Amino acid sequence: MPRLDYARCKDCQRSREETGPLSHTRLCESCSGRRLAENVYGIHAKYGPAYQRRQYGIALREFGPRVALALKQAGVFDDVMLDDVTARP
Ligand SMILES: [Zn+2]
Repeated sequence: MPRLDYARCKDCQRSREETGPLSHTRLCESCSGRRLAENVYGIHAKYGPAYQRRQYGIALREFGPRVALALKQAGVFDDVMLDDVTARP
């Protein structure tokens, strides 16, 4: 849903007159498409902030907020998991 009160895209800083309508997250069409692609590829590749948010959401649903927060504070979602790393000869 476009918001008419936003003036500039928060990623590329271009004005609404240059980019067209901005979304409710204050992104232009090209930046929102780029972010969507980055998130989809990141989740597929098991890497990046979108994947970490997804893993946290899964832990939240499966174990509840106390365990998920403890795992987050322990840094479980920060780095690539050991089982995702392939051994190289
Ligand atoms: Zn933009």
